Amino acid sequence: MASKLRLHEGTVRASLVAELEAFRAPGQRVSSYYVDLDATQDTEAAKLAVKNSLATQRERLDQLDVPHFVRQSLRHDWELIQELALGTVGRRDTRALACFVASAGGYARVLRLPWPVRDRAFFEDRFVLWPLHQQLDQADRYAVCLTDKDDARLFLVYLEQIEEVSAFRDKLPGRVRFPDPIKEWHYTNKHVDYFHRHFEHVAEAALRLFQREPFEHLIIGGLSEHLPEFEGQLHRYLRDRVVARWDMDVHTPTPQVLERALQEEQNVLKRQAQGIWKSILDSRAQRGTLGPEESFAALWQRRVQALLIEPAVSYAGFRCGACGRLHLSGGPCVECGGKMAEVADIYDEAVHDAIEQCAQVRYWKDQALNDVDSIAALKRF
Ligand SMILES: [Zn+2]
Repeated sequence: MASKLRLHEGTVRASLVAELEAFRAPGQRVSSYYVDLDATQDTEAAKLAVKNSLATQRERLDQLDVPHFVRQSLRHDWELIQELALGTVGRRDTRALACFVASAGGYARVLRLPWPVRDRAFFEDRFVLWPLHQQLDQADRYAVCLTDKDDARLFLVYLEQIEEVSAFRDKLPGRVRFPDPIKEWHYTNKHVDYFHRHFEHVAEAALRLFQREPFEHLIIGGLSEHLPEFEGQLHRYLRDRVVARWDMDVHTPTPQVLERALQEEQNVLKRQAQGIWKSILDSRAQRGTLGPEESFAALWQRRVQALLIEPAVSYAGFRCGACGRLHLSGGPCVECGGKMAEVADIYDEAVHDAIEQCAQVRYWKDQALNDVDSIAALKRF
């Protein structure tokens, strides 16, 4: 077992999740930690919050009824996770960590998450993945396919990470000048045929990638004059997923490809939020809730299909200790009369509740949402 943990590089692929699911440690316990690295606070305050939360988990594991060697291994996991978490606080691309560590088995995977999580730890004989699945469900997967007449590169983009999954070149016949117009004509035809075949090859590679690692959206890029021909070669499944067409050199450095893909993702997220908003207004009487009180009631009924929330809005509020209902004001709970406890940020709590009921959560900055106190929801029924 390495003496230090490293963050997983690249995207979270379906195969990685399957590997975590299949991992077993008979006779042992393994550690699954979800650690929030609250990016809204300053780094020192966030570090302190991480330390306090991990200290609570440490107490829990010290009290587990397990043999000494099992506890020692869990303690080692804990130390590795604490070191990595404290070193990661303040990173712009990491809002939370999901850590899966089995010191005794020499296995560790630590994934960055761009969404807030509730701090949790599990010490079972296998990794606990349901909070990870809830997070993964929030984000769409993108593929980017860049191609010119002979080169191609394919990328996956997910949870703000990029991974180049393949790159290849199809050989084109060299450029030659023919004195004879008939030969020239044959040559040009052959040339067109070659790059037609190249596009077919790229389209097939994109389809194979989709079958292996399904994605919701596809971005294609290359010389804008060739893109329509390439798009025409794509399988119908993929053509329906194209969200953007870029005029971009196939050899563009990967970080620039990521930057542009993240801008494109923002556009898609905005369109999704506008779509949810329209559904809320269209079915306002049966399924739409506007403002905090109506939306908190819908969350309490576990009926939220989609939640819209304004980014960077934060209010203190209350949560019922008995039934979990969120309220803006104190006093006995309107649902059960239970006693309420203060929460630092009620909007953040609403996001947690929505993620836990597998609702689609979208942050959306728009005057219309601001006018209803920054929160609205679409109910399932
Ligand atoms: Zn209550």
